[in-house]
Amino acid sequence: MKKATRQFTKNHNITLVLKTIFQQTAVSRAEVARITRLTRTTVSDIVGALIEEGLVHEVGVGESLGGKRPMLVAIEKDARVILCMDLSRRGFRGALVNLRGEILERTNGGREHYRGEAALQQVFAQLDNLVEKTSQPILGIGIGTPGLIDTREGVVRRAVNLDWNDLPLKKILSERYHLPVHVANDSHVAALAEYSYGELRDVPNLVVVKAGEGIGSGIVLGGKIFYGDGFAAGEIGHLVVGDNGLLCTCGNYGCLETEAGTRAILQRAANLVEQHPGVLPQANPNAKLNLEDVHQAFLAGVPQVTELVSAAARALGVAIANLIGVLDMQQVILSGEITELGEPFLDLVRQQARRRVLSDMVENTTLRLSSLGADHVLLGASALVLSQELELP
Ligand SMILES: [Zn+2]
Repeated sequence: MKKATRQFTKNHNITLVLKTIFQQTAVSRAEVARITRLTRTTVSDIVGALIEEGLVHEVGVGESLGGKRPMLVAIEKDARVILCMDLSRRGFRGALVNLRGEILERTNGGREHYRGEAALQQVFAQLDNLVEKTSQPILGIGIGTPGLIDTREGVVRRAVNLDWNDLPLKKILSERYHLPVHVANDSHVAALAEYSYGELRDVPNLVVVKAGEGIGSGIVLGGKIFYGDGFAAGEIGHLVVGDNGLLCTCGNYGCLETEAGTRAILQRAANLVEQHPGVLPQANPNAKLNLEDVHQAFLAGVPQVTELVSAAARALGVAIANLIGVLDMQQVILSGEITELGEPFLDLVRQQARRRVLSDMVENTTLRLSSLGADHVLLGASALVLSQELELP
C-alpha cells in the first residue's frame, strides 16, 4: 500500500489531476477537465481511481453552470500521513503530518544534545513512537537535518554537531521502516515549507535565511529546492561579514554565525551582564540568560543591548544583501530562533540590507518574518516527502 502510492501516481495524467484537485478547496470533474485540458472521460476515470485509493473524496454539490449541479471532489487530507523529524541543534523533534501540512501528533527529545550513534538511536525512538501513534497509511519519512546532505543518495556527508560523517541515513531508515525516505538540509527544507505552507505559498522563487545557533539559507527556484552542485547552496553561515570578528569553529574570524548566531548573541549578552550587573534584567534570574531576556532589554532600549543587537542585524543585513544581489529574488524570509527578536529587529536587518543593494533591486524586495514558527523544518520535511512522492503541491 505504502510504496504503491508512488507507483500509482507515476502516471503523468494522474499526477496532473491530483495536483489540480490539491490546489483547490473543492472542484468539479468538469472544472478539472477544463484546467488540465484532459477529456472529461479521462478525468472521470482518474478521479474514480483516486477515490478508490482514498486520496480524493466527494464533498457535495456545487453551483450549477446551466445544467445539473456538479458533484465536487476534494483531497482527503488524512488519507496519508508523513513521519517528519527536525534534527536541529535545539533538540530533536518529530511530527506526524497530514497531506495539508497539519500536525497531528508530536514527539520531542528534549533539549538533550545527541551525537553519533546516540543521535541515530534517538531518531529511531521518535520515529517508532510516531509509527505507533497512527493507523493511517504512511506516505514516507522526511528528515531535515543540519549539515551537508547528499539529498539524492540520502547520505549525511558531514554534520559536525551530530558527529555524523558519510552516514547513509536514507538506507538505514528505509531498511528499518520499509518506507520511502527523504533527507535534506534543514535550511533547504525550511525554504520548501514556506513555498508549500507559508504566507508565500505558491510563490515560485524565494529565499529563506534560517538563523538560530547556526545560520543557513534555503533557495526555492521554480517551486523546487535549489540544492547547488554539491548540495551546499545557501550555506552562508561561514561567510565572513565582520572585519574584526571573533574566532569561529571553522578557523576563520568574523563568520556570519559568530556575528549573528543566537549563541553568539547570548554570549555577548552574558559578557555584558558580567561587566555591568543589572543592565539586562532576566525574567528568571536563576536560569541561563535567554533570547527573550535580550528581546525585552532591546525593546526597553537598553543602549548596550541595542548596540549588540544592531551588530547582529548588520551582519545578517550584509548576508541578505549578498543573497539579493546574486539571486535577484524579491521574496526573502527570515526564520528560526532569531525571529524571537521580532519586527524591530527585522527593521534593523532591512535597513542594513537596503544600504548594500542597488536601489532598483531593493524597491521590489520584501523581507519578512516566517509565519511558520518553530515548526518550519518539520513542515519542510513533510513538504519534501509530498513533493517527491506525489509531486504536490
Ligand atoms: Zn566559520
